[in-house]
Amino acid sequence: MEKQTSSITIIGMGFCGMMTAVHLIRNAKEPFTLNIINKGYPDCKGPAYSTDNPHLVLNVPSAKMSCIASQPDHFLNWVMEKDNYKALGKELLAITFMPRKLYGEYLADVWKETMDSQERIVDVNMINDSATGVQKISDGYEVSLVNSDSIVTDVIVLATGNESPGEPEILNKEFFNCKEYFPNPWSNEAVRNSDPDSNILIIGNGLTMVDTVIGLVDNGFHGKIFSISPNGFAMLQHRHGGVVYKNLVDELKEPYDLKKIFELFKKHVRLVRQLGISAEPVVDSIRGKSQSIWMNLPLEDKQKFMKYLRHLWGVARHRVPGHVYDRILGLKLDGKLSIIKGRLRDIKKTSEGIKVDYRNRKTLTDESIVVSRVINCTGPFTDISRSKNPLIASMAANGLIKPDPMKLGIDADVSFRVIGIDNQPSEEIYTLGGNLKGLLWESTAVPELRVQAENLANALLEKIGEPEPVE
Ligand SMILES: Cc1cc2nc3c(=O)[nH]c(=O)nc-3n(C[C@H](O)[C@H](O)[C@H](O)COP(=O)(O)OP(=O)(O)OC[C@H]3O[C@@H](n4cnc5c(N)ncnc54)[C@H](O)[C@@H]3O)c2cc1C
Repeated sequence: MEKQTSSITIIGMGFCGMMTAVHLIRNAKEPFTLNIINKGYPDCKGPAYSTDNPHLVLNVPSAKMSCIASQPDHFLNWVMEKDNYKALGKELLAITFMPRKLYGEYLADVWKETMDSQERIVDVNMINDSATGVQKISDGYEVSLVNSDSIVTDVIVLATGNESPGEPEILNKEFFNCKEYFPNPWSNEAVRNSDPDSNILIIGNGLTMVDTVIGLVDNGFHGKIFSISPNGFAMLQHRHGGVVYKNLVDELKEPYDLKKIFELFKKHVRLVRQLGISAEPVVDSIRGKSQSIWMNLPLEDKQKFMKYLRHLWGVARHRVPGHVYDRILGLKLDGKLSIIKGRLRDIKKTSEGIKVDYRNRKTLTDESIVVSRVINCTGPFTDISRSKNPLIASMAANGLIKPDPMKLGIDADVSFRVIGIDNQPSEEIYTLGGNLKGLLWESTAVPELRVQAENLANALLEKIGEPEPVE
């Protein structure tokens, strides 16, 4: 008799793992076993929504944060049930940026409701442990765990999220072993128990830097914070809320070519600027098309984008809410936050503290500062062949997965099937979320992740009870 798909194992239960599970459970027509393995961050929340700090807010307006694409008001309706928000009204809430802590509570509620449902026919097995490897065996796959017996499963979903940042290029690699170095900016330890009157260096100048600055200050730090990045771009705030600009997309035609898109973009930014409007609506207008543009760009153009435009695009695309912008600006004006356009040279522990040497790219001089801690906010590390996640590293080593050509994540096809070293899409191992950045580029935020989770769950449900393909 042919073996049938009867068990699915999701590794990682942040937004992606959880929402895949929610759709699997809610839409199942036949019983099966669903294993969910998660360790590192609390179930449902991941690094994004597990913070306790109410001042760390979503960077996407509430109206776009429903966890279910077909029910756009799902999050807003949930918020409206809260006494302290009800009086504000749905229209106002829709354009605001709610605390990420609250969003984490929302996700936990959706999960609880799913698990408590009387109609649930899926047997859910929650495993609070780290998966360390996957092996192909005769009747499926064996997933090894740190503290528990390994489990055998038919299908695997890698929903492992973003990795911590990679180590920056400095001469003295020993520094990365010091307790003053914080490699994971999303850990609470990175912003707590600092020497309140000292200096702190943040490597990186994006949204994680903003969160880290707020986290440090809210935890009583009142010394000076330096942020260093090669471009030293000034961050942008969300403005012109609701302005919809369509003209660029109307002109955008395949085949895509990076140079032409860039020229078109500049032309439309010039046009809206005549009306006193910034580039924001032009940037946002491309959002709905960015996945198809990326997928259809030649490899050479993708490489050029990564080399010359990625950081500029990142600043334009990942903006902060106005009140957060004002708070950061206030710290800059008070001299409490200094943004350095520079390149790190070295970091050493000395008798005075941590000495940081860098090349100031504005003044073209070599400079140094002394700080008490260094927090790495350079963004997720993406080359899976050098992953620090033992599961991903071992799967890359045994060839079940491989990096995509841009080394931005896991190689996969549009059906989320991973592509191993045999260059064939797997019928049993799938991935979604940040792991698909190489395939989709824009695979980061809830508006796209909720669609991925639902599509993947529906595709997997079609496999339940069906004979597995004969090899
Ligand atoms: C600080 C921050 C703020 C953000 N804010 C927003 C926002 O406002 N709006 C928005 O739309 N998006 C935001 N994002 C984007 C965010 O990445 C997505 O919204 C979403 O939370 C990603 O979910 P995920 O499931 O892919 O990954 P994650 O949330 O990272 O979840 C992955 C889970 O898998 C676990 N895991 C990994 N490997 C293993 C293993 N081997 N064994 C067991 N468990 C494992 C991890 O510990 C984690 O719990 C933010 C991201 C960050 C980091």
